[in-house]
Amino acid sequence: MVGKEADPAAALQRPDSFGRFGKFGGKYVPETLMYALTELEAAFKSLSTDHEFQKELDGILRDYVGRESPLYFAERLTEHYKRPDGKGPHIYLKREDLNHTGAHKINNAVAQALLAKRLGKKRIIAETGAGQHGVATATVCARFGLQCVIYMGAQDMERQSLNVFRMRLLGAEVRAVHSGTATLKDATSEAIRDWVTNVESTHYILGSVAGPHPYPMMVREFHAVIGKETRKQALEKWGGKPDVLVACVGGGSNAMGLFHEFVDDKDVRLIGVEAAGFGLDSGKHAATLTKGEARLPWVGPEHSFLKDVGRAEYYSITDEEALDGWRALSCIGDISCTGLSREAVPTLPDATKVVLNCSGRGDKDVQTAIKHLKL
Ligand SMILES: *Cc1c(COP(=O)(O)O)cnc(C)c1O
Repeated sequence: MVGKEADPAAALQRPDSFGRFGKFGGKYVPETLMYALTELEAAFKSLSTDHEFQKELDGILRDYVGRESPLYFAERLTEHYKRPDGKGPHIYLKREDLNHTGAHKINNAVAQALLAKRLGKKRIIAETGAGQHGVATATVCARFGLQCVIYMGAQDMERQSLNVFRMRLLGAEVRAVHSGTATLKDATSEAIRDWVTNVESTHYILGSVAGPHPYPMMVREFHAVIGKETRKQALEKWGGKPDVLVACVGGGSNAMGLFHEFVDDKDVRLIGVEAAGFGLDSGKHAATLTKGEARLPWVGPEHSFLKDVGRAEYYSITDEEALDGWRALSCIGDISCTGLSREAVPTLPDATKVVLNCSGRGDKDVQTAIKHLKL
């Protein structure tokens, strides 16, 4: 079974009809949502071959989101990682931080809003943690004239007050969730409760490649533009493919968006980097793939699958390492974005083409960084 699924030719058929990637994923929801998920899957399937829909989406991605995003040769960063013999990898940055609202999230939000409109849904709900997905969703709702309710943990609202203000400015209602730990997990539960109640009028814009089928597949497809552009840009810039792709993994959407196009290219290494927080043994980390158990769905099922069959590699870095990387990228690469990792970089063969996905601007993390970086 595993051998068969590892067959690259099967990659594009994933997930199966139950939404399962190998032994991961599926559809475990209250009965009332089954119809909505089936309807969503059917709409997604028919719109992916609908020329008008694709044209409209491409136009908005170009003129509103600002695609395509550049593939930038980070000359000074490349210089920085050169070994004493002058050899080392060539580092390129895929600049998703330059998208409207400052991160990759809007690729998915804009496509789902357009899909919701086609389904005749006039009300949108979403969950948000740090507020980036909430801002992207509120933005596209303002663009398409859709009613917007964002669920956010009360704790997170306090930490990310600027994003709360941005959402409200965009006309969204931000509902504080006080239950549980008052963070993302609880906001997600509240959003699902709302969806169960208002499923007729409401579309749930889920923010990552997680949740029940068809979301992991659909969100992956809406971000796949990142990898498609990267292939084309690599061909233009050096006449070949990237050798190594590196992306940070929270829920896994920016990484899947970059990886998907190259899953069948076995000569391209796929590397996901998770947050190890205070360290893998501290109990305070988010390194699901490095340290978690197979039953805890904090990361998209396709990543679990890619790890399981050995197609992608996953590492983790601590907060301190992430801050170091951020600082290096800011002062050497002259770009401030999150998600940098130095994993594997120093030992790579000469002129290895490394593409690092710059998933977003680091604005939301600046307040936190101020406390820890002594400049
Ligand atoms: C939301 C976010 C992430 C994490 O989400 P993924 O689904 O793993 O991509 C990473 N970087 C930025 C800038 C984000 O806004």
